[in-house]
Amino acid sequence: MRRKRQRLLPTLALPRRLPSFPVLIDKPDLSPWRSGNNGIPGVIERDSGHPGPEITVVALTHGNEFAGAVAADRLLREDIRPICGVLRVIFANMAAFERFDPANPTASRFIGEDLNRVWSNDRLAHAPGSVEMERAIEILPVIRRSDMLLDLHSMLWESTPLFISPQTERSIALAGRLSSQADTPFLTLTDLGHVGGSRLIEHEHFLSAASPGRSVLLEAGQHWRPETVEISARVIRHFVENAGFVHWGMRGETGTAPRQAMVTDNVVARSASFAFIEAYQGGSVIEKAGTLIATDGDDEICTPYDHCVLIMPNLCVRRGQLAVRLARRL
Ligand SMILES: [Zn+2]
Repeated sequence: MRRKRQRLLPTLALPRRLPSFPVLIDKPDLSPWRSGNNGIPGVIERDSGHPGPEITVVALTHGNEFAGAVAADRLLREDIRPICGVLRVIFANMAAFERFDPANPTASRFIGEDLNRVWSNDRLAHAPGSVEMERAIEILPVIRRSDMLLDLHSMLWESTPLFISPQTERSIALAGRLSSQADTPFLTLTDLGHVGGSRLIEHEHFLSAASPGRSVLLEAGQHWRPETVEISARVIRHFVENAGFVHWGMRGETGTAPRQAMVTDNVVARSASFAFIEAYQGGSVIEKAGTLIATDGDDEICTPYDHCVLIMPNLCVRRGQLAVRLARRL
């Protein structure tokens, strides 16, 4: 995948500074949900009154990714309810969300630290040192009782939507169920985690063989595009409607076979001059092994196998940051 540069390459015309990303959707009015209805602020519970799985939808894990919150807000106003079991919707990082400024839209991802890197037992056991840790501990009881959890995210750079699940059979089955719906046939990925810390979908409750929890993360599209709201809404509906089927292992109707891939490599920029050869869109497939996709100082980055999927390339990556993940189709 990484080899010493053989020859001089033409200078690339890709931006070195972050371009401006238009904000095409409005912030949702979350005031009806602020105080919550089950004792925890920002947590809304809808009980079907029938036995069944306890399922959780999480929006705003990242404060500036509010397309999922627009969708969740709309469905709550339409009084979405599971057929069986209990649905809980968590608006996670409301504090960061409130600071969102369309003139500087990437700044409000979090306040003190990334809420999606703190979910190891070790971190959760220590005294909170940030707004986000406090919030993680506050919503932890809801996370722990979730038979299934859907964490809603979106992406800065243009990309096809995708599902990411932990590498457990039960979570892969949940992701497969969502991606086999006719109008959400997105690639489902298992990946290598994040070096920065455990994500919500990787909390012990979802990884341990001893607990039943299933989790899946949706990357629904570009942060501030109307399509990303629509895709988030579709996936929330499918999640709520299919939870009982998945929980009890029933088949039910599905559209297409899920498309799966596995992340094999996290490519980290080792130099400040990391640059992709093209402005690749996330989800692009590079057909031939050995194709040059980027240069990084004196190194060339090449695809290690045929049909390599580029996951969320960061076109303005800085030294030490994750530039792209490479995934092999299964
Ligand atoms: Zn996110």
